[in-house]
Amino acid sequence: MPEYADVIVDISMEKLDRTFQYRIPEHLRDTLAEGMQVIVPFGGGNRTLKGFVTQVTDVCEFDPARIREISGIAERGVCLEGQMISLAAWIRRIYGSTMNQALKTVLPVRRKIREKTRRRLVRTVSLEEAKEYLELFERKHQTARFRLLAALMDQEEIDYRLVSEQLHLTAQTVNKLEEMGILRVETDTVFRNPVKRTKEGAAPVALNEEQQAAVRGILERAKAGDLTPSLIHGVTGSGKTEVYMELIASVLKEGKEAIMLIPEIALTFQTALRFYQRFGEQVTIVNSRLSEGERYDQMERARKGQVRIVIGPRSALFTPFGNLGIIIIDEEHEGSYKSETVPRYHARETALRRAQMCGAFVVLGSATPSVESYARALEGEYRLYRLEKRALEKPLPETEIIDLREELKAGCRSALSRRLRELMEDRLKKGQQTMLFLNRRGYAGFVSCRACGHVIKCPHCDVSMSLHTGGRMVCHYCGYEERAGKMCPSCGSSYIGAFRAGTQQVAELVRREFPGARVLRMDLDTTKNKDGHEKILEAFAEGRADILVGTQMIVKGHDFPNVTLVGVLAADLSLYGGDYRASERTFQLLTQAAGRAGRGREPGIAVIQTYSPDHYSIETAAAQDYGAFFEKEIAYRRLMEYPPAAEMMAIYLSGTEQEALEEGAMILRQVISGENQEAHVRVIGPADARIARVNDRYRKVIYLKCRDRDRLTELMERLEPALREAKELKALTVQFDRNPMNGY
Ligand code: ADP
Ligand code: ZN
Ligand code: ZN
Repeated sequence: MPEYADVIVDISMEKLDRTFQYRIPEHLRDTLAEGMQVIVPFGGGNRTLKGFVTQVTDVCEFDPARIREISGIAERGVCLEGQMISLAAWIRRIYGSTMNQALKTVLPVRRKIREKTRRRLVRTVSLEEAKEYLELFERKHQTARFRLLAALMDQEEIDYRLVSEQLHLTAQTVNKLEEMGILRVETDTVFRNPVKRTKEGAAPVALNEEQQAAVRGILERAKAGDLTPSLIHGVTGSGKTEVYMELIASVLKEGKEAIMLIPEIALTFQTALRFYQRFGEQVTIVNSRLSEGERYDQMERARKGQVRIVIGPRSALFTPFGNLGIIIIDEEHEGSYKSETVPRYHARETALRRAQMCGAFVVLGSATPSVESYARALEGEYRLYRLEKRALEKPLPETEIIDLREELKAGCRSALSRRLRELMEDRLKKGQQTMLFLNRRGYAGFVSCRACGHVIKCPHCDVSMSLHTGGRMVCHYCGYEERAGKMCPSCGSSYIGAFRAGTQQVAELVRREFPGARVLRMDLDTTKNKDGHEKILEAFAEGRADILVGTQMIVKGHDFPNVTLVGVLAADLSLYGGDYRASERTFQLLTQAAGRAGRGREPGIAVIQTYSPDHYSIETAAAQDYGAFFEKEIAYRRLMEYPPAAEMMAIYLSGTEQEALEEGAMILRQVISGENQEAHVRVIGPADARIARVNDRYRKVIYLKCRDRDRLTELMERLEPALREAKELKALTVQFDRNPMNGY
């Protein structure tokens, strides 16, 4: 029975992160739990304060003779605030941060809310008139106006933000319709639902057999009190969203609330509309662009029961619902569920924890589940449901793999293979559209041979080496270095070098090769300006361009019915990203990219160009065979002890002095070894970070790996005193990243 409790007192005070330790009186030892509110003596005299228990423990951090006792329990049971505080304590423990940082993540900061002006569009013509205008726009091929009016026919009013963010329309279109007297732009100062429902509770579709089986299975188990999480593995368009809506409806009927997480980039206007039409005013959709005040306002509405469904990105997980029934995580494999700032929590694991505390159930969904989740599902930790058919009988696109080594042999050194060029020509003739996708990310330039496809890998970590200045090749896990050679170690050819290509070069090439074609480019450079992103997508959606060249930005979410060809120019770029998730990310990207082709009536083709045509993530993506991909990938993870076969912890160190950083990193490594006497944990590094220097700060990484999650957590906790006290470490910034996804 734990004897001690950490208590956080009065969290409304600025000093959020101070926890104090107390002894648990004998008679409370079997009742006291994390999150409960207690009364404790505080300061001198007889003063007492209320506080929340953040952890019960056997470890006394102070002089046991001087520690004071908890006076009593303020409230049996754990209230919402107590739950959120103990969730914060869990985040702190698992992901490594201060209590303050964790609490700020979980509890929206109370700020004076400055009232924001909101603009909205209101339709000013009747439905009949609107229909006439709609036909006019269609005849004149004015697709922007057509789409805006169509949206205004579904809804009498729309929030202005949805126009640019979801419909990808510009102010010009709005102004035009306003001039024509079709709509009016109104402003008001209260926060309101961005869409007003006009249709009363749109009738749900009749679920097909697979969908019914999933809904029934999940609800029956929930009713029986079995809260095993569920994973829905269903191809895009198989009707997962319909399943989510059915589950939510059932949860609402029981008087409970629902949270649905969705990667922001994947939330289309159409999806938002489906939820509003079915659930009306009970839904709110939040996004990461809300100001702190707005977010707080939304959270208050949830707390007061004014909304009962919250849809949003990662942070929506912390919506203060007091009677939460379900948490759904759509596209659960997405990297955006992992926070990129401290605490670097993962929304999936954190959702499981929150659900466990309040008896809610968790449903994960994806067309390409993360290796972690699928492995858990196969091991029975999650219940697996499959949706194998597309709900609307649209075939999946065909895929073709082009071997770039063969192209080179045939004397073709262009970024566009002969086959891809031929198909592009054909699409141009037919007036159909093409998307060219360059899956470039990060800075890592891997080194490969264009003649045989050989890629230089770290002999210890089995990930690609990255080329750094001065011809050094570096492994970003263990720090192993080698000089880059001039000859391919595998075939002896001299076509070896860093793999680099940019969207700008590709766009220029396409313009040269197809002088008549209208080409658009979308990447970080062209979307820097406000609305840049929307303008490009709008232009492409309206058919004002034939070819769109872009980075992964173009493969998510958006539907372009006239696109019948998708070219992946260099699948290898994500394949050799220098981290253990590279194959998984490639499989997901290729599957998504291929899915962009043939959304409309015409069937589509996806062409995947690569130097590694027989790499399993490319073969299985082309065959749309998730199961085969998973088998290969999990074998690799097991062999190399990467998650989910082992738990991994990255420790990021940075400092302004290179030598001090190197010294600090070595000292931390020694501290770790000292705490790791039984050697349950493998220590790797220190190594230079992928980006070894940012803003004049040098960066290093140490990795820990362990098959046992709890042992790793314990080790981290034991490092804390050294991080606080050792002078070589105090001068550095040290951050933890559990099961890293985004690199450093
Ligand atoms: P996913 O979320 O898996 O991509 P959606 O739920 O968005 O799939 O469904 C794709 C399309 O199929 C949507 O237009 C949806 O309305 C439709 N749909 C889904 N299930 C059914 C069904 N049982 N009957 C008719 N249409 C359906
Ligand atoms: Zn070679
Ligand atoms: Zn290595």
